[in-house]
Amino acid sequence: MRPRALVTGGAGFLGSHLCDALLAEGYSVVAVDNLLTGRLSNIEHLRREGQFEFLQLDINRKVDCGEVNYVFHFASPASPVDYMVHGIDTLKVGSLGTMRALDIARKNHAKYLLASTSECYGDPLEHPQKETYWGNVNSIGPRSVYDEAKRFAEAVTMAYYRYYGVDTRIVRIFNTYGPRMQLNDGRVVPNFMKQALRGEDLTVYGDGTQTRSFCYVKDEVEGFLRLAECDEHFPVNIGNPEEFTIVDCAHRVIEITGSKSRIRYEKLPQDDPKQRRPDITKAKSLFGWEAKIDLDTGLRMSLDYFREAVAAEAAVRA
Ligand code: UDP
Repeated sequence: MRPRALVTGGAGFLGSHLCDALLAEGYSVVAVDNLLTGRLSNIEHLRREGQFEFLQLDINRKVDCGEVNYVFHFASPASPVDYMVHGIDTLKVGSLGTMRALDIARKNHAKYLLASTSECYGDPLEHPQKETYWGNVNSIGPRSVYDEAKRFAEAVTMAYYRYYGVDTRIVRIFNTYGPRMQLNDGRVVPNFMKQALRGEDLTVYGDGTQTRSFCYVKDEVEGFLRLAECDEHFPVNIGNPEEFTIVDCAHRVIEITGSKSRIRYEKLPQDDPKQRRPDITKAKSLFGWEAKIDLDTGLRMSLDYFREAVAAEAAVRA
């Protein structure tokens, strides 16, 4: 019998790539998504796949998904634009939704993996960020709906491990990009790609010296699978430690798309982290994972997707 995995947020950017990878690993997969920010088009190619099932349900409520061996809890708005628009939903899915997903794992004696985030480190004072760093988060700022929801999600996951013996894992995901990101989710890679392909100015927020470390989605999902097989219960960073300023990222997108776009500087959003780079020593030593795809290569691999998405949007507008 194939192992059966539940993926919450299975129609989202990361959730849908995870479904693909689990199916390739020999799992049968049930994906649950309320389609708040997830999209059916992300899983359209799986509709005729016999080992895949999709349920349009809200994980904040009681969900009957049948017996499962593994629960991957990926449901949540994840881009700053999305989680600030859907602030209450983000807090609910990080708290109630995480407890529901943990209850499913507990009832089924299933393994469990929580998608957490580098946002747990906030605007970090320690650099690069190790898993032992407790973070620098503004609990009442605009990003807190996401940051604190995920910090609660980590706390309740550790509590289910400690009090109920649920076999849990926590991955802290650093900025990930690639095909299936929504053009309008506001994150930096889709924004720059869209703007460059349309010949519009690229909007760099602040002076563009803030840094991020970008991981191509294929590498990131490979890290999830390796962690899923490992017995580590404390958080593990999965990200690409190559660090770029945002203005450098803008120049790379302009070059790779062959665009004539220029850069326009706009106001920096409140509490925007100044720097972010994962220390991945733990993932390397526990299960030999590290990212293989550098930013230029990953942007080139994403180009066809963004070209098609921009063309599709233009066709709808026309
Ligand atoms: N950013 C930018 N222009 C954009 C979108 C984002 O300069 O059009 C910046 C943003 O201020 C942040 C970085 O790019 O410093 C990454 O933003 P993103 O929303 O992708 O994710 P974050 O890492 O902040 O969660």
